[in-house]
Amino acid sequence: MIDARVRTNVQRAVDSLKDELVQLVCDTVRIPSVTPTPSDSGSSDTAVEVSGETQVNHAFKPVMESCGLETDLWEVEKGRANLVGIWRGKGRGRSLLLNGHVDVVPPGPLEKWTVAGPWSGEIIAGKIYGRGSTDMKGGIAAAVFAMKALLKAGYRPKGDVFIQSVVGEEHHETYAGTGAALERGYRADAAIVCEPSSPPHKLSINTASPGLVVMHVKVKGKAAHISMRDELIRAGGLGAAVGVSAIDKAFLLYQALLKLEEEWGQTKSHPAFTRPGHFVLFPEVIQGGDIMAASIPEECSMTYIIWHPPQDTAEDVAEEIQAHIARFAQTDPWLRENPPEVYVPLFSLPPFETSHEEPICKAAAAASEAVFNRPASLYGCAYTSDAGFIRHAGIPTIVMGPGSQGVAHGFNEYIEIQDLLDAAKLYAMTIVEWCGI
Ligand SMILES: [Zn+2]
Repeated sequence: MIDARVRTNVQRAVDSLKDELVQLVCDTVRIPSVTPTPSDSGSSDTAVEVSGETQVNHAFKPVMESCGLETDLWEVEKGRANLVGIWRGKGRGRSLLLNGHVDVVPPGPLEKWTVAGPWSGEIIAGKIYGRGSTDMKGGIAAAVFAMKALLKAGYRPKGDVFIQSVVGEEHHETYAGTGAALERGYRADAAIVCEPSSPPHKLSINTASPGLVVMHVKVKGKAAHISMRDELIRAGGLGAAVGVSAIDKAFLLYQALLKLEEEWGQTKSHPAFTRPGHFVLFPEVIQGGDIMAASIPEECSMTYIIWHPPQDTAEDVAEEIQAHIARFAQTDPWLRENPPEVYVPLFSLPPFETSHEEPICKAAAAASEAVFNRPASLYGCAYTSDAGFIRHAGIPTIVMGPGSQGVAHGFNEYIEIQDLLDAAKLYAMTIVEWCGI
């Protein structure tokens, strides 16, 4: 139980810092920090300036220092710097890591931002608009202001607190971002990834996420002049002796994988995921044929995204899907002779799960109850984040942050100011409960 007086003092301190917190989010949203790709060096596109991430961290640094945190800002690649805010506790307390990323996904067509521009940081009806407001400069700012509020209220955490503000999350460059910060020694007894953890509820405590696997499948056909089409599909036609459409065959395979996806809805589950059928496999890209070639398509490829339960490994899932495709190929004379080429896992991101019995879950739940005056909600989250890598490094981890996945990566992204304040209170209260004061 968090002491009622501490709770009131911390909440008051956060409220008194509201304007500064809002200003910091607006200022950082106004810095375009789209994750650069190697081809962006020397880019003239202002939305993809290589130093955008670093500029954001340069904006966070003095605010961290004004809170009484030490800072460590270091370049991992040319123009790309991570930042860690460090609170050295008095000792005898558990340490906590708060993690967030400063890079953002591209805004897309600017005319789609009908409420406010992606780099405007405009406030309309209690919401700050712009790319990165929810995902996730708001989360980092709330973590910084949690520390600022605690210290302003006169509470000094006993355990160490590290606020990691890293680059390259959206492109999964863990080596440059979160991985580099962990390697530099910024590890703790538990971690909170401050990504937006709504829906279903604002600031819910996410204790698991699925693993992500990318699969590429190539289906072969047999090219022939398009005038032969009827020979391939009508009874009595010459069939595969003349040609085979790779697209037709890929479509059969697509149907077979759709059946597997349906089956997963019944068979794959995890206690942290309350929604049935959360684990899915679906094509993100299907490519085949060439309109200029005027031939029956020789090849069709499909790239799949697969979300698998945290208890499975990427290898388990790859094996299962490969076996399914191999079995299916046996049912078609052409695919039996010309089995699809399957590349899986082409790429994968680790899942994470942290038992609800872990002390960090209990501490966050106690903090959540103190802030919201209702039982805490613990869920699995529908997306992957750096939580997978932090958990993989042996640190009990949860995802808990302001904003909503419903507006992240979309047009007119925003964060509610109330959500920012609640997040700062929630982090401050979790620090009290976890690190001691
Ligand atoms: Zn994010």
